Formats: sequence, structure tokens, C-alpha cells
Amino acid sequence: MKKGTLAVISGFSGAGKGTVTRRLLDKYADECCLSISVTTRSPREGEKDGIHYFFRTKEQFEQMIKEDRFLEHACYVDNYYGTPREFVEEKRKAGIHVILEIEIQGALQVKKRYPEAVLIFVTPPSARELEKRLRGRGTESEEEIADRLAKACEEARDISSYDHIVINDTVEECVDRVYGIIRGVSDRVANNEELIRRITEELRVFKKGE
Ligand code: 5GP
Repeated sequence: MKKGTLAVISGFSGAGKGTVTRRLLDKYADECCLSISVTTRSPREGEKDGIHYFFRTKEQFEQMIKEDRFLEHACYVDNYYGTPREFVEEKRKAGIHVILEIEIQGALQVKKRYPEAVLIFVTPPSARELEKRLRGRGTESEEEIADRLAKACEEARDISSYDHIVINDTVEECVDRVYGIIRGVSDRVANNEELIRRITEELRVFKKGE
């Protein structure tokens, strides 16, 4: 049996990657699954252990690191986050595509360890659109919006490490493009340098202290 694809989906906060991933998992439930991460951060309201994350203590997490049970792990804003290796390997062996929705540092570790992994970066068509979407969802304060846009500016520097940059214009089109990549039917060279250059440039206005 052909092994399932290991696909990493990242994107700026507000890019809509969560919506795209959820829709993809809904639409192609038989072929794709999502890896559930382990984290040491506390659950937010409504989050459930084993569904959104596996919530563990720092000691438990460190024990898992010692036992080499993570495919990758990273520290993000004072908390650990990691991808359990066993689940991913079992699903892939069964021919199921596994999606990791993780931040950039983790994505780069995955690529180093699993060169066959496909890294997909989801972005809105422009920095202005990103700002509009962040404001539109109305869940962050002005200060948080500014922080997230500044973070996006930092992250933009690493986007060129991704195999595919996918523009999230309309959700359905984006989902099908991502699905094509995961199935390996889209051409691999879609790392759109011109787009990266333009968005990186546009995001500079949000950089802190400038
Ligand atoms: P949050 O605390 O908002 O749920 O997640 C914070 C960040 O950690 C997000 O960018 C999320 O994609 C990332 N993240 C979630 N799980 C993992 C993981 O297993 N590994 C890594 N490297 N990042 C993760």
C-alpha cells in the first residue's frame, strides 16, 4: 500500500488556515486525518483533552521528549507543543494522509527529519487583506492585532522554505488546491517567489518599532 502523505499546513494568524483545514478534513474524511498535538498550555474554554490537544504537564512532556515520542516539538510563548510520532506513522502506513497544523519552527524540523513531507503555507492575497480578516473576526484587541501582524512580518522571512504557497482567496478553491498537493497531483514547484517578495514587502509596515 502507498504510504499516506505527511502534510504540514502553516499560515499567518488570520490567514484562514484553520477554516481550510477543517473543510478539507470534512470533505475528504476517508483519506485525510489531523494529528492532535500535545501541549503544556492550559485548555481554553470549550477545549477538550484528546480532541483539541492532549493537555499534559511540563514533566510529562519532558518525559515524552526523553522517550523520543515526538516527531517534532517546539516551545511557543512559554509552552511546549509537540506532534506525537506513533499516531502519524500508523496512519501513514495505512495509506491515510496526515495533516499537521503547526507553526514554522516545527514545520522546518519536520522537513529536516522527513524530507518527503510537503510543507504548505496558506496566505491571504495581500497584507491588507490579512489585516482586514484579523479585524473582521473581532476576537482580538487592537494591540493583539498589531502583535499578530508584526509576527506575520517576522514569519514572512521563512516562507520560502515551504514547498507550496497557496492563496486563500475562496475557501473551496483553496481546499481543492491543498488536496491536489496532498495527493501529489499538483506540480511540486509552486513556491511563488514573486508573491512572497510582494507580501513580505507589504508586511514591513506592520513591523514593530518602524
Ligand atoms: P495555540 O496555543 O494558539 O493553540 O497554538 C499556538 C501555536 O502553536 C500555533 O501556531 C499552532 O499552530 C502551533 N502548534 C500547535 N500544535 C503544535 C505542535 O505540535 N508543534 C508545533 N511546533 N507547533 C504547534
